[in-house]
Amino acid sequence: MIIILLGPPGAGKGTQAQRIESSQGLVQLSTGDMLRAAVAAETEVGKKAKDFMEAGKLVTDEIVVGIIADRIEEEDCKNGFLLDGFPRTVAQAEALDNMLDQKNLKLDAVIEMQVDDGALVDRITGRYTCSECNQGYHDKNLKPKVDGVCDNCGSTNFKRRADDNKETVTSRLESYHAQTAPLLPYYGDKGVLKSVDGMADIDDVTAQINDVLGNLS
Ligand code: ADP
Ligand code: ADP
Ligand code: ZN
Repeated sequence: MIIILLGPPGAGKGTQAQRIESSQGLVQLSTGDMLRAAVAAETEVGKKAKDFMEAGKLVTDEIVVGIIADRIEEEDCKNGFLLDGFPRTVAQAEALDNMLDQKNLKLDAVIEMQVDDGALVDRITGRYTCSECNQGYHDKNLKPKVDGVCDNCGSTNFKRRADDNKETVTSRLESYHAQTAPLLPYYGDKGVLKSVDGMADIDDVTAQINDVLGNLS
């Protein structure tokens, strides 16, 4: 299965992708996570991407398309994958279509997570993750069961993203509306777009996505 999770920053893509990864055995490909790893490792890609990310702007299509093209060649993508945060422009969507065509693969569904802009600032400014296993949390909406201890791996180290602040959110939302929202009609025309209510509780959103996935096979 090849699935895209589409939605504005803070919509819940990463949260749901982690759940689908464990329930469906589909590998999660997050361009944001890959870029942050490249920035931390100070690779050539990381050096090029850093300033864009800190300013809340999209990294160039060339960089992210290159990252995804390499990544989907790996063994763990053989049985499908779940894209989280890619594509984000029509040019990226077209590049993905070409990659899939060449490999004789088909996109099964694009799941749009609909969330009001007003809710996103709170989601983004309250977001943090486990430093060891990357499990996502939120200051109010999703706390670990034991305060300060990761549910998944027991670590007591957590981190926040450099770009998860009020100033950057505005710019990221502008990028979403100007550059990413055109993907909705793009995929709508292809008949693969499915929308879920991302304002619902986390478990409810998971149930909606499972319904979509269940109706595909
Ligand atoms: P994205 O990957 O789309 O940027 P995340 O999955 O990281 O978004 O979610 C952003 C923040 O909002 C996280 O802290 C997460 O715990 C929280 N969150 C995710 N889904 C919901 C939801 N349905 N309701 C409330 N909070 C949510
Ligand atoms: P969020 O879901 O909160 O927007 P991501 O982790 O997906 O965050 O992305 C963080 C940043 O990484 C983006 O603001 C952008 O600078 C860069 N980025 C991630 N994916 C892409 C992409 N497909 N195209 C361009 N830039 C990207
Ligand atoms: Zn952990």
